[in-house]
Amino acid sequence: MKTLLKTSGKWFKGNLHMHTLRSDGRIEPEEAIRLYREAGYDFIALTDHWVQSETEQRDDFLLLSGCEWDTGDMVNTPVFHIIGAGMERPVSLEVCHSHPVQKIIDAIRDANGIAILAHPAWSVTNPDDVLGLRGLSGVEIYNTVSGLPWNGQRADSSLYFDLWATKGKLFRSMAADDSHFYDGEHTRSYILVNAEELTAASIKKAIADGNFYASQGPRFESLETDGKVIQVRSSKVESIVFYSNSVWCRDRVFTGGVDRATYHIEPTDRYVRVELIDFEGNRAWSSPFAVHSDAAQ
Ligand SMILES: [Zn+2]
Ligand SMILES: [Zn+2]
Repeated sequence: MKTLLKTSGKWFKGNLHMHTLRSDGRIEPEEAIRLYREAGYDFIALTDHWVQSETEQRDDFLLLSGCEWDTGDMVNTPVFHIIGAGMERPVSLEVCHSHPVQKIIDAIRDANGIAILAHPAWSVTNPDDVLGLRGLSGVEIYNTVSGLPWNGQRADSSLYFDLWATKGKLFRSMAADDSHFYDGEHTRSYILVNAEELTAASIKKAIADGNFYASQGPRFESLETDGKVIQVRSSKVESIVFYSNSVWCRDRVFTGGVDRATYHIEPTDRYVRVELIDFEGNRAWSSPFAVHSDAAQ
């Protein structure tokens, strides 16, 4: 069996999207750091709008440099919000809300940061506008504050991953809180990164290598394939669900309290991704991975 998700290293829990009084968040940076640290997180990035924070190692807690840049006027040009995390120097972008989105991504990467597309569902992004972008390390499959009661119901961008993957573009799944209010949306949705150690270099390398998944609580224990089936082991959950470009197939849902499932890859499948849903409705999302392809991961 071939491993689709690395599980042999240590797991580190992080939120790479949140705001403070440095932009439109409601609390001081140190208070936000304290809330996440006390909730058991290992790393965060303070990503205030157009204000870049600095990387800082605090014993067993890591602050990655972060910022959120936006472009688009919502009428004539599409809206993109791009998160940068782990930059090693200031990103060179003058304040302007009409930069081409690729220019923002390139500027983040020029500063050795990782670039993430935030909340496509909230942004009402046309999925085709994303297909040609280069250099994204991940896309938010879930953004807590984009859901009720803080916004309309646009927290979940998972359908975008299926639209993209059906066209052959496999973006990696991330989840983040995008905390602003700290009245319940914080410490909910995160990534779990399988890395050697809790340093900026190790976390960034693990993210670049795809050694992470998105969660709100459920855990993947293993995710493997032999090319014919996909086997999942997880924490005890209500359901394990396999999504693919095949719009209908038997046995894609395993439910009723399960901690493992075996999915038989359909002849028409070109990619598969897996969601776990626990008894309270909390979810975990694997990234989509290619099947029936010489380039299968
Ligand atoms: Zn945003
Ligand atoms: Zn934000």
